[in-house]
Amino acid sequence: MGGYGSGRRPGKNKQDILPCVDLRLLRRKGALTNGRVSVLRCFRNDQYIGETKVTVAEDKIILEYWAQPSAAKSCLYITSVNLTYTPCHFGGVRPWMLCPGCHRKVLILYAGSTCFRCRHCFRLTQLSDL
Ligand SMILES: [Zn+2]
Repeated sequence: MGGYGSGRRPGKNKQDILPCVDLRLLRRKGALTNGRVSVLRCFRNDQYIGETKVTVAEDKIILEYWAQPSAAKSCLYITSVNLTYTPCHFGGVRPWMLCPGCHRKVLILYAGSTCFRCRHCFRLTQLSDL
């Protein structure tokens, strides 16, 4: 029958659940320099769940996600992500990641169980879209 309160809860935001790589954050930290390696630690509810090593190469970045490095069931996968640039209105260029799944220009990629993909590929909702 499906009474009141059953079914999917609206407004559940999966974005907070999956670890992600935010290009704007990397850029702000000056980590988008060729040859630069940075490590992003991922937490969920204040618990350490894994880390992503980001290596910047010419026109692409290599993302190595290591889930639960200290646990027996740890997993590691590597995704190569191409970068593209669009000119800004006030000069300079804006970098984007090309999602390895759908090739959209995105600023954030999320770590799934086996690969990095954008929110469209993972069907994540965003509050600003609601
Ligand atoms: Zn995608």
